Amino acid sequence: MISRGSTRQTPNSISAARARLFEEIRKAGVSDAAVLAAITKVPRDQFVDDALKNRAYENNALPIGHAQTISQPVVVAFMTQALTQGRKLERVLEVGTGSGYQTAVLAELVGTVFTVERIKPLSELARTRLSALGYRNVHFGYADGMKGWLPYAPYQGILVTAGAESVPPALIEQLGPGGRLVIPVGPPGRQSLKLVERRGSSVREQDLGWVSFVPLLAGKV
Ligand code: SAH
Repeated sequence: MISRGSTRQTPNSISAARARLFEEIRKAGVSDAAVLAAITKVPRDQFVDDALKNRAYENNALPIGHAQTISQPVVVAFMTQALTQGRKLERVLEVGTGSGYQTAVLAELVGTVFTVERIKPLSELARTRLSALGYRNVHFGYADGMKGWLPYAPYQGILVTAGAESVPPALIEQLGPGGRLVIPVGPPGRQSLKLVERRGSSVREQDLGWVSFVPLLAGKV
């Protein structure tokens, strides 16, 4: 019988792919030990369809249905580091739950994660996945995250995982004193990643480089 090979990965090839990805993340400038540990712990293959599991440890965004994607792992690690900056934040809002992968990485690092998603089936699937993986410190909301999530505000950190045309004012309003917002700003597919820090009544904004995200859209579907 002629073997045509298989796209299925053995546990060894998965761990080799995970090790390669870990090195890529370190080379991209992620040095925070807690962030690296969280990335090592969360199994990204559990956040994609079976047909894509063999690609879960490539440094790529992958489709998750509903015209959305699971974010690129290097970008997830980089944004998480920019948000936490070596501190354990108590309350963090994520806008754009998607697959729940970034949510799980945050749940490893912060007290409580509040995550909102505008596409109901994505929110429900992410909730099921995180519950199966044993996360108990995540609250899921089906809501338009451009408005933040007022009932649980203020947040020490807000992470937006879709590209906004401009920074939604509600997100700045829902940051606590000294709180940080990490958000891609610009047209679909090419945004500048911004770090916005609330200092009393003023805000300080910093550019962290170029990223590519699906757009942040208003309303729920
Ligand atoms: N963090 C996710 C990224 C998913 S892509 C992951 O790693 O899987 C971005 C997500 O943002 C999509 O699921 C999209 O539906 C969601 N989104 C876009 N606009 C939104 C909005 N206004 N409020 C909440 N979620 C939004």
